[in-house]
Amino acid sequence: MSTDRPVRTRFAPSPTGFMHIGGMRTALFTWLFARANGGKFILRIDDTDASRNDEAALEPILDAFEWMGLDWDEGPVRGDGMNDYFQSQRRGLYDERLATLLDADHAYRDFETPEEVAAQREAAEKAKRNYVSSRASLELSEDEVAAKLDAGERHVVRLKVPRGERVTIDDAVRGEVTWSTDEMPDPVLARGDGSPLYNFASVCDDADMNISHVIRAEEHLSNAAVQALLFDALGADRPVFAHIPFVAAPGGSKKLSKREKDLAKYRESPGFRKLFEVGDRVLPLIGVEPGPTMNPVMVAFYREVGFLPDAVFNALARLGWSHDDSTEVMSREFVVQNFSLDRVVKASAGLDPDKMLSFQEHWVGEMDPAVKLDHCCEYLDRAGWAYERDFVSQLLDALGDRVKLLSDVLSYEEYFVADADLAYDEKAFKKRLRKDGVPELLSAYRDSLAVVEPFEAAALESHMTAFCEEREIGLGQIIHAVRVAVTGKPAGPGMFDALELLGRERCVARIGRALAMLEDAAAAST
Ligand code: GLU
Repeated sequence: MSTDRPVRTRFAPSPTGFMHIGGMRTALFTWLFARANGGKFILRIDDTDASRNDEAALEPILDAFEWMGLDWDEGPVRGDGMNDYFQSQRRGLYDERLATLLDADHAYRDFETPEEVAAQREAAEKAKRNYVSSRASLELSEDEVAAKLDAGERHVVRLKVPRGERVTIDDAVRGEVTWSTDEMPDPVLARGDGSPLYNFASVCDDADMNISHVIRAEEHLSNAAVQALLFDALGADRPVFAHIPFVAAPGGSKKLSKREKDLAKYRESPGFRKLFEVGDRVLPLIGVEPGPTMNPVMVAFYREVGFLPDAVFNALARLGWSHDDSTEVMSREFVVQNFSLDRVVKASAGLDPDKMLSFQEHWVGEMDPAVKLDHCCEYLDRAGWAYERDFVSQLLDALGDRVKLLSDVLSYEEYFVADADLAYDEKAFKKRLRKDGVPELLSAYRDSLAVVEPFEAAALESHMTAFCEEREIGLGQIIHAVRVAVTGKPAGPGMFDALELLGRERCVARIGRALAMLEDAAAAST
């Protein structure tokens, strides 16, 4: 391990048009390692194989990084087009390195057709022996190679894997991992036209950018064997590799997937369902379409439904890494100070929606009320609901810790709709209002509201107590009916706070409307 180099890590996404929550966790660990060690974090765009390499496909990735608060020291500059941190702009480097490898006989041009290679592979499988490349093209004379090139014959450039050796890496998460080169076919580095494939471009870049630690998803572990050989062939220092286990779907051990079929399953799973339901409730209100890139597998979803980046940061940091056996809630500063690769687990870690929600609850509780108010107002703006800022501020005070997601304010439309548009929860209306004696009590209560001074929670509470004492009834006989009549719902903030918030006129009007509805219902049933 070359640990004495200045720490430089990189995250190298392809421009896919989305940021997967599992990818974000890998990015976070990579960023954390750089920050924890006073190093540099580089964002590099692996767009050599990308079917889309336009800015639009990169946008969600940059958005996710910015939202999470993960800054990069080198990488793309927003709105500035492509620069040196896009593989598509680095072809000169790959050409140069490919020529060096060919000259040094570390690589060769292979003219065997894909069909020939496939047949050899199949034959090896049938004979139960390891498949290695035939290297028949190495038998060609220089003239024959030149003639084939002149004729434009299709070919690839392969690394000449040294036979009879062992490649060992000391992975910072998985420990020592060894491969026998006798089990390694010669990997393709580039197509005949010199366009590089992932393993080759990645190593050229990592060497050129002096990357000290390659931290990435465990699915790349087998690539590390090829890449280690490539670093050696290029005469470059190998980085330390760290392969991070994948993020599993809630309650399972399978990798969290973005496939539609899996999403449909997740929607039905007990742990995951509640996040999908949040999306069902919030996204239509703010005019955001759910879909393949907007669901609880994607970082953008958490932003849109009103999670705080601190909560997602905390949750992802705890997915496969821990500070000790008990600390759950951690600030970003704390994580940066304490992050180390040796406390990253080897097993996959399951996304835990309940935990995410509890981190959210914690971090919302820590928020400056003025900032929280701003965020809630943003949601009201996005939903197109008219409001007065002071009113929202009072509503948030009354709601207290009922507001967990920043979008939760949209669950209280009763405070924003006109009295005539208030919707009544059918069950609550039936249970609390359609009862003998209730209309009379409500009507008397409504009339008595005229004299409550000031129209504030404390005075309203004493007034209701007096109202009940006078009639020798329990508070329970009226309080639920009043709540449903005024808010349309069986629950919400403290009832007297709700009355104060809405004000005398609206309370009177709403009770009046509920009474009229009760009368209509009574008339219809006789
Ligand atoms: N573009 C690769 C990926 O997104 C990068 C892998 C690596 O970090 O080497 O999986």
